[in-house]
Amino acid sequence: MPKVKNWQIGREQFYKYEGKLPKKQIAYVFDTNKCIACQTCTIACKTTWTSGKGEEYMFWNNVETKPHGFYPLGWDVQGLGKIGPGNWTNGVYLGKTVFEAAKEGEEVAGYLPHEEDWSHPNMGEDELSSKIEDRASYELPHSSWMFYLARICNHCTNPACLAACPRKAIYKRPEDGIVLIDQDRCNGYQKCVAACPYKKPMFNPQTGKSEKCIACYPLIEKGIAPRCVQTCIGKIRMTGFINQPEKADEDNPMDYLVHVAKVALPLYPQFGTGPNVYYIPPIHVTHEYLHQIFGPGTDHAVETYKKRSEKLVGLLTLFGSTDHWVDKFKVENGQATGYQNGQELVTVPVKEPLVFRAMRDKERNVTRQSVT
Ligand code: SF4
Ligand code: SF4
Repeated sequence: MPKVKNWQIGREQFYKYEGKLPKKQIAYVFDTNKCIACQTCTIACKTTWTSGKGEEYMFWNNVETKPHGFYPLGWDVQGLGKIGPGNWTNGVYLGKTVFEAAKEGEEVAGYLPHEEDWSHPNMGEDELSSKIEDRASYELPHSSWMFYLARICNHCTNPACLAACPRKAIYKRPEDGIVLIDQDRCNGYQKCVAACPYKKPMFNPQTGKSEKCIACYPLIEKGIAPRCVQTCIGKIRMTGFINQPEKADEDNPMDYLVHVAKVALPLYPQFGTGPNVYYIPPIHVTHEYLHQIFGPGTDHAVETYKKRSEKLVGLLTLFGSTDHWVDKFKVENGQATGYQNGQELVTVPVKEPLVFRAMRDKERNVTRQSVT
Protein backbone atom coordinates (compact mmCIF):
# COMPACT_ATOMS: atom_id res chain seq x y z
CA MET A 1 0.00 0.00 0.00
CA PRO A 2 1.43 3.46 -0.88
CA LYS A 3 2.33 5.93 1.83
CA VAL A 4 1.02 9.49 1.97
CA LYS A 5 2.08 12.44 4.08
CA ASN A 6 -0.58 13.51 6.58
CA TRP A 7 0.29 16.78 8.36
CA GLN A 8 -2.69 16.38 10.68
CA ILE A 9 -1.08 13.39 12.41
CA GLY A 10 2.51 14.55 11.94
CA ARG A 11 3.69 11.52 9.94
CA GLU A 12 3.32 9.39 6.86
CA GLN A 13 0.56 6.80 6.75
CA PHE A 14 -0.75 4.07 4.51
CA TYR A 15 -3.45 4.90 1.94
CA LYS A 16 -4.76 2.83 -0.95
CA TYR A 17 -3.76 5.30 -3.66
CA GLU A 18 -0.70 7.45 -4.33
CA GLY A 19 -1.04 10.84 -2.66
CA LYS A 20 -2.03 13.19 -5.48
CA LEU A 21 -3.36 16.43 -4.10
CA PRO A 22 -6.08 18.35 -5.97
CA LYS A 23 -5.23 21.75 -7.48
CA LYS A 24 -7.40 23.37 -4.82
CA GLN A 25 -8.99 21.90 -1.70
CA ILE A 26 -12.37 23.04 -0.39
CA ALA A 27 -12.38 23.60 3.37
CA TYR A 28 -14.73 24.85 6.06
CA VAL A 29 -14.20 26.33 9.50
CA PHE A 30 -16.98 25.94 12.10
CA ASP A 31 -16.80 27.93 15.35
CA THR A 32 -18.44 25.61 17.90
CA ASN A 33 -18.64 28.47 20.41
CA LYS A 34 -21.35 30.15 18.36
CA CYS A 35 -23.59 27.23 17.34
CA ILE A 36 -27.07 27.34 18.91
CA ALA A 37 -28.32 24.04 17.41
CA CYS A 38 -31.18 25.77 15.61
CA GLN A 39 -30.76 23.14 12.82
CA THR A 40 -31.33 25.76 10.10
CA CYS A 41 -28.29 24.33 8.28
CA THR A 42 -29.74 20.82 8.56
CA ILE A 43 -33.05 21.85 7.05
CA ALA A 44 -31.47 24.07 4.38
CA CYS A 45 -29.46 21.04 3.23
CA LYS A 46 -32.38 18.64 3.50
CA THR A 47 -34.82 20.77 1.51
CA THR A 48 -32.16 21.40 -1.14
CA TRP A 49 -30.80 17.88 -1.63
CA THR A 50 -32.57 15.05 0.24
CA SER A 51 -36.31 15.51 -0.03
CA GLY A 52 -36.83 12.49 -2.30
CA LYS A 53 -37.97 8.92 -1.72
CA GLY A 54 -35.52 6.81 0.24
CA GLU A 55 -33.90 9.96 1.61
CA GLU A 56 -36.35 10.50 4.47
CA TYR A 57 -33.84 9.48 7.15
CA MET A 58 -30.89 11.30 5.60
CA PHE A 59 -29.24 14.37 7.06
CA TRP A 60 -26.12 15.11 5.05
CA ASN A 61 -25.71 17.99 7.50
CA ASN A 62 -26.55 17.22 11.11
CA VAL A 63 -25.91 18.98 14.41
CA GLU A 64 -25.44 16.77 17.46
CA THR A 65 -24.97 17.59 21.14
CA LYS A 66 -21.69 16.31 22.48
CA PRO A 67 -20.88 14.19 24.40
CA HIS A 68 -24.16 12.22 24.24
CA GLY A 69 -25.49 13.06 20.77
CA PHE A 70 -24.76 10.88 17.74
CA TYR A 71 -26.02 10.48 14.18
CA PRO A 72 -25.89 7.58 13.55
CA LEU A 73 -25.90 6.17 17.08
CA GLY A 74 -22.41 5.86 18.57
CA TRP A 75 -20.56 6.60 15.28
CA ASP A 76 -17.43 8.04 16.90
CA VAL A 77 -17.30 5.62 19.82
CA GLN A 78 -17.48 2.74 17.33
CA GLY A 79 -14.86 4.32 15.07
CA LEU A 80 -12.42 4.82 17.94
CA GLY A 81 -13.01 1.21 18.98
CA LYS A 82 -12.01 0.08 15.46
CA ILE A 83 -8.64 1.86 15.51
CA GLY A 84 -7.88 1.00 19.14
CA PRO A 85 -5.93 3.12 21.62
CA GLY A 86 -3.26 5.50 20.32
CA ASN A 87 -1.09 8.21 21.87
CA TRP A 88 0.11 11.53 20.58
CA THR A 89 3.76 12.44 21.22
CA ASN A 90 5.02 15.90 20.22
CA GLY A 91 2.21 16.29 17.69
CA VAL A 92 2.75 12.83 16.16
CA TYR A 93 -0.02 10.25 16.37
CA LEU A 94 1.46 6.89 17.28
CA GLY A 95 -1.67 4.74 16.99
CA LYS A 96 -3.29 3.23 13.90
CA THR A 97 -5.43 5.07 11.36
CA VAL A 98 -8.56 3.44 9.90
CA PHE A 99 -6.39 2.26 6.99
CA GLU A 100 -3.64 0.81 9.16
CA ALA A 101 -6.12 -0.92 11.48
CA ALA A 102 -7.87 -2.74 8.59
CA LYS A 103 -7.93 -6.51 8.77
CA GLU A 104 -6.59 -8.60 5.91
CA GLY A 105 -8.95 -8.40 2.95
CA GLU A 106 -10.39 -5.05 4.10
CA GLU A 107 -9.36 -1.61 2.82
CA VAL A 108 -10.56 0.24 5.90
CA ALA A 109 -11.44 -0.70 9.49
CA GLY A 110 -15.10 0.25 9.64
CA TYR A 111 -18.60 -1.00 10.36
CA LEU A 112 -22.08 -0.72 8.87
CA PRO A 113 -24.57 0.95 11.24
CA HIS A 114 -27.90 -0.81 11.85
CA GLU A 115 -31.04 0.77 10.39
CA GLU A 116 -32.13 1.69 13.93
CA ASP A 117 -28.89 3.61 14.50
CA TRP A 118 -30.00 6.23 11.95
CA SER A 119 -33.49 6.54 13.43
CA HIS A 120 -32.87 9.03 16.26
CA PRO A 121 -30.92 11.98 14.88
CA ASN A 122 -31.68 14.07 17.98
CA MET A 123 -30.47 11.39 20.40
CA GLY A 124 -28.86 13.03 23.45
CA GLU A 125 -29.90 16.52 22.39
CA ASP A 126 -29.13 19.14 25.05
CA GLU A 127 -28.00 16.46 27.52
CA LEU A 128 -25.21 17.49 29.82
CA SER A 129 -21.96 15.60 30.28
CA SER A 130 -22.95 14.52 33.76
CA LYS A 131 -26.17 14.32 35.69
CA ILE A 132 -27.25 17.34 37.71
CA GLU A 133 -28.44 16.06 41.09
CA ASP A 134 -31.85 17.09 42.30
CA ARG A 135 -31.75 20.64 43.70
CA ALA A 136 -28.08 21.01 42.78
CA SER A 137 -27.17 24.38 41.35
CA TYR A 138 -24.75 25.26 38.60
CA GLU A 139 -21.26 26.27 39.52
CA LEU A 140 -19.16 28.63 37.46
CA PRO A 141 -17.24 27.51 35.55
CA HIS A 142 -19.68 24.67 34.94
CA SER A 143 -18.62 21.26 36.07
CA SER A 144 -21.21 19.92 33.64
CA TRP A 145 -20.96 20.88 29.99
CA MET A 146 -22.18 20.10 26.52
CA PHE A 147 -21.71 21.68 23.12
CA TYR A 148 -23.13 21.48 19.63
CA LEU A 149 -21.14 19.78 16.90
CA ALA A 150 -22.30 20.54 13.35
CA ARG A 151 -21.22 17.83 10.89
CA ILE A 152 -21.05 17.39 7.13
CA CYS A 153 -18.85 15.28 4.84
CA ASN A 154 -15.25 16.42 5.37
CA HIS A 155 -14.23 16.12 1.70
CA CYS A 156 -11.19 14.34 3.06
CA THR A 157 -7.69 14.43 1.61
CA ASN A 158 -7.50 10.61 1.98
CA PRO A 159 -11.17 9.64 1.72
CA ALA A 160 -11.96 6.29 3.33
CA CYS A 161 -15.16 6.07 1.28
CA LEU A 162 -13.16 6.34 -1.96
CA ALA A 163 -10.55 3.78 -0.85
CA ALA A 164 -13.25 1.24 0.04
CA CYS A 165 -15.37 1.46 -3.12
CA PRO A 166 -14.81 -1.68 -5.24
CA ARG A 167 -16.55 -0.02 -8.23
CA LYS A 168 -14.35 3.09 -8.20
CA ALA A 169 -17.60 5.05 -8.17
CA ILE A 170 -16.23 7.64 -5.75
CA TYR A 171 -13.86 10.33 -6.96
CA LYS A 172 -12.20 13.47 -5.69
CA ARG A 173 -12.45 16.39 -8.11
CA PRO A 174 -9.01 17.68 -9.07
CA GLU A 175 -10.26 21.28 -9.40
CA ASP A 176 -11.59 21.69 -5.84
CA GLY A 177 -11.10 18.45 -3.86
CA ILE A 178 -14.85 17.83 -3.51
CA VAL A 179 -15.58 14.09 -3.02
CA LEU A 180 -18.53 12.76 -5.05
CA ILE A 181 -20.29 9.43 -5.65
CA ASP A 182 -21.00 8.75 -9.32
CA GLN A 183 -24.62 7.58 -9.19
CA ASP A 184 -24.27 5.74 -12.53
CA ARG A 185 -21.35 3.64 -11.32
CA CYS A 186 -22.56 2.99 -7.74
CA ASN A 187 -23.96 -0.52 -7.24
CA GLY A 188 -25.07 0.07 -3.64
CA TYR A 189 -22.57 -2.28 -1.95
CA GLN A 190 -22.38 0.26 0.95
CA LYS A 191 -18.65 -0.26 1.38
CA CYS A 192 -18.34 3.54 1.62
CA VAL A 193 -20.96 3.69 4.37
CA ALA A 194 -19.00 1.10 6.37
CA ALA A 195 -15.62 2.70 5.67
CA CYS A 196 -16.30 6.38 6.40
CA PRO A 197 -15.43 6.86 10.08
CA TYR A 198 -17.66 9.97 10.13
CA LYS A 199 -20.59 7.99 8.66
CA LYS A 200 -21.38 10.58 6.03
CA PRO A 201 -22.29 8.42 3.01
CA MET A 202 -25.88 7.13 3.32
CA PHE A 203 -27.70 4.36 1.47
CA ASN A 204 -30.89 5.08 -0.46
CA PRO A 205 -33.02 1.89 -0.40
CA GLN A 206 -35.28 3.27 -3.15
CA THR A 207 -32.53 3.78 -5.71
CA GLY A 208 -30.17 1.09 -4.34
CA LYS A 209 -27.29 3.61 -4.41
CA SER A 210 -25.26 5.46 -1.80
CA GLU A 211 -25.37 9.24 -1.54
CA LYS A 212 -23.53 11.93 0.34
CA CYS A 213 -22.93 15.68 0.75
CA ILE A 214 -21.79 17.20 -2.53
CA ALA A 215 -20.49 20.45 -0.97
CA CYS A 216 -23.18 22.25 -3.04
CA TYR A 217 -20.71 22.12 -5.94
CA PRO A 218 -23.04 23.93 -8.38
CA LEU A 219 -22.82 26.92 -6.00
CA ILE A 220 -19.08 26.59 -5.34
CA GLU A 221 -18.49 26.72 -9.10
CA LYS A 222 -20.28 30.09 -9.17
CA GLY A 223 -18.26 31.50 -6.27
CA ILE A 224 -21.16 31.05 -3.83
CA ALA A 225 -20.95 29.31 -0.45
CA PRO A 226 -22.83 26.04 0.25
CA ARG A 227 -26.40 26.26 1.59
CA CYS A 228 -25.44 25.24 5.14
CA VAL A 229 -22.88 28.06 5.25
CA GLN A 230 -25.14 30.71 3.73
CA THR A 231 -28.08 30.01 6.01
CA CYS A 232 -26.27 29.55 9.33
CA ILE A 233 -28.10 31.64 11.92
CA GLY A 234 -25.23 31.61 14.40
CA LYS A 235 -22.74 32.72 11.72
CA ILE A 236 -20.43 29.94 12.85
CA ARG A 237 -19.32 28.90 9.34
CA MET A 238 -16.92 30.05 6.66
CA THR A 239 -15.89 28.27 3.43
CA GLY A 240 -12.82 28.72 1.29
CA PHE A 241 -9.84 26.82 -0.08
CA ILE A 242 -7.01 25.58 2.10
CA ASN A 243 -3.33 25.09 1.24
CA GLN A 244 -0.93 22.55 2.63
CA PRO A 245 0.80 23.98 5.75
CA GLU A 246 4.12 24.63 3.98
CA LYS A 247 2.28 26.82 1.43
CA ALA A 248 0.09 28.63 3.97
CA ASP A 249 -0.93 32.18 3.01
CA GLU A 250 -1.80 34.23 6.06
CA ASP A 251 -4.23 36.39 4.05
CA ASN A 252 -6.28 33.28 3.18
CA PRO A 253 -8.93 32.82 5.91
CA MET A 254 -8.73 29.00 5.96
CA ASP A 255 -4.91 29.03 6.08
CA TYR A 256 -4.89 31.71 8.75
CA LEU A 257 -7.30 29.90 11.06
CA VAL A 258 -5.84 26.41 10.54
CA HIS A 259 -2.12 26.87 9.84
CA VAL A 260 -1.15 30.33 11.13
CA ALA A 261 -3.27 31.05 14.23
CA LYS A 262 -3.89 27.29 14.63
CA VAL A 263 -7.24 28.03 16.20
CA ALA A 264 -9.26 25.59 14.05
CA LEU A 265 -8.65 21.83 14.25
CA PRO A 266 -9.67 18.72 12.31
CA LEU A 267 -12.24 16.37 13.85
CA TYR A 268 -10.70 13.05 14.96
CA PRO A 269 -7.47 13.51 12.96
CA GLN A 270 -6.37 10.08 14.23
CA PHE A 271 -8.77 8.41 11.78
CA GLY A 272 -6.22 9.41 9.11
CA THR A 273 -8.62 10.55 6.40
CA GLY A 274 -7.37 14.15 6.50
CA PRO A 275 -10.77 15.81 7.05
CA ASN A 276 -11.19 19.34 5.64
CA VAL A 277 -13.83 20.65 8.01
CA TYR A 278 -11.99 22.40 10.84
CA TYR A 279 -13.47 23.29 14.22
CA ILE A 280 -12.73 26.06 16.66
CA PRO A 281 -13.10 24.07 19.90
CA PRO A 282 -15.55 25.15 22.59
CA ILE A 283 -13.78 27.11 25.33
CA HIS A 284 -15.87 25.80 28.26
CA VAL A 285 -15.38 22.06 27.79
CA THR A 286 -12.96 19.81 29.66
CA HIS A 287 -9.74 19.48 27.67
CA GLU A 288 -9.53 15.76 28.32
CA TYR A 289 -12.55 15.30 26.08
CA LEU A 290 -11.43 17.90 23.54
CA HIS A 291 -7.99 16.28 23.15
CA GLN A 292 -9.71 13.06 22.15
CA ILE A 293 -11.79 14.62 19.42
CA PHE A 294 -9.61 17.49 18.17
CA GLY A 295 -6.12 16.21 18.98
CA PRO A 296 -3.17 17.81 20.75
CA GLY A 297 -3.64 21.30 19.27
CA THR A 298 -6.63 21.92 21.55
CA ASP A 299 -4.90 23.87 24.37
CA HIS A 300 -3.23 26.28 21.95
CA ALA A 301 -6.47 26.75 19.96
CA VAL A 302 -8.53 27.56 23.05
CA GLU A 303 -5.90 29.94 24.46
CA THR A 304 -5.52 31.76 21.12
CA TYR A 305 -9.28 32.10 20.73
CA LYS A 306 -9.60 33.52 24.22
CA LYS A 307 -6.85 36.11 23.58
CA ARG A 308 -8.94 37.54 20.72
CA SER A 309 -6.38 39.42 18.64
CA GLU A 310 -7.88 42.08 16.36
CA LYS A 311 -7.01 40.04 13.26
CA LEU A 312 -8.77 36.95 14.61
CA VAL A 313 -11.83 38.84 15.82
CA GLY A 314 -12.00 40.67 12.48
CA LEU A 315 -11.92 37.41 10.56
CA LEU A 316 -14.55 35.85 12.82
CA THR A 317 -16.72 38.91 12.18
CA LEU A 318 -16.60 38.09 8.48
CA PHE A 319 -18.22 34.68 9.15
CA GLY A 320 -21.77 34.84 7.84
CA SER A 321 -21.30 38.33 6.40
CA THR A 322 -21.39 37.24 2.74
CA ASP A 323 -23.08 34.51 0.67
CA HIS A 324 -19.80 33.85 -1.16
CA TRP A 325 -16.72 31.83 -0.28
CA VAL A 326 -13.82 34.02 0.73
CA ASP A 327 -10.27 33.50 -0.53
CA LYS A 328 -8.53 36.54 1.04
CA PHE A 329 -9.19 38.85 3.96
CA LYS A 330 -7.74 41.97 5.48
CA VAL A 331 -8.22 43.52 8.91
CA GLU A 332 -7.15 47.15 9.31
CA ASN A 333 -8.39 50.43 10.78
CA GLY A 334 -11.12 48.65 12.72
CA GLN A 335 -12.59 47.04 9.61
CA ALA A 336 -12.51 43.51 8.18
CA THR A 337 -12.80 42.95 4.42
CA GLY A 338 -13.38 39.69 2.53
CA TYR A 339 -12.33 39.16 -1.10
CA GLN A 340 -12.84 36.61 -3.87
CA ASN A 341 -10.54 36.55 -6.90
CA GLY A 342 -9.30 40.04 -6.01
CA GLN A 343 -12.81 41.54 -5.85
CA GLU A 344 -14.06 42.98 -2.57
CA LEU A 345 -17.08 41.04 -1.30
CA VAL A 346 -17.87 42.72 1.99
CA THR A 347 -16.48 45.10 4.63
CA VAL A 348 -17.69 44.99 8.23
CA PRO A 349 -16.67 46.86 11.40
CA VAL A 350 -14.60 44.67 13.74
CA LYS A 351 -16.43 46.15 16.68
CA GLU A 352 -20.16 46.75 16.24
CA PRO A 353 -20.93 50.38 17.05
CA LEU A 354 -23.20 50.71 20.11
CA VAL A 355 -25.72 53.52 20.29
CA PHE A 356 -27.42 54.31 23.59
CA ARG A 357 -30.70 56.18 23.36
CA ALA A 358 -31.31 58.88 25.91
CA MET A 359 -33.69 57.84 28.67
CA ARG A 360 -36.94 59.81 28.41
CA ASP A 361 -38.44 58.49 31.62
CA LYS A 362 -39.22 61.89 33.14
CA GLU A 363 -40.82 63.22 30.03
CA ARG A 364 -42.94 60.09 29.76
CA ASN A 365 -43.52 59.73 33.46
CA VAL A 366 -42.05 56.22 33.56
CA THR A 367 -40.96 54.51 36.76
CA ARG A 368 -38.47 51.66 36.37
CA GLN A 369 -38.27 48.98 39.04
CA SER A 370 -35.46 46.86 37.67
CA VAL A 371 -32.79 49.54 37.22
CA THR A 372 -29.82 49.17 39.58
S1 SF4 B 1 -16.09 12.33 5.51
FE1 SF4 B 1 -16.48 10.20 4.91
S2 SF4 B 1 -17.77 10.40 3.09
FE2 SF4 B 1 -16.77 12.38 3.36
S3 SF4 B 1 -14.87 12.25 2.09
FE3 SF4 B 1 -14.33 11.68 4.22
S4 SF4 B 1 -14.46 9.44 4.20
FE4 SF4 B 1 -15.62 10.13 2.38
S1 SF4 C 1 -27.52 26.98 11.34
FE1 SF4 C 1 -25.53 27.45 12.31
S2 SF4 C 1 -26.10 27.95 14.44
FE2 SF4 C 1 -27.86 26.85 13.56
S3 SF4 C 1 -27.44 24.68 14.07
FE3 SF4 C 1 -26.57 25.03 12.02
S4 SF4 C 1 -24.40 25.47 12.44
FE4 SF4 C 1 -25.51 25.77 14.39
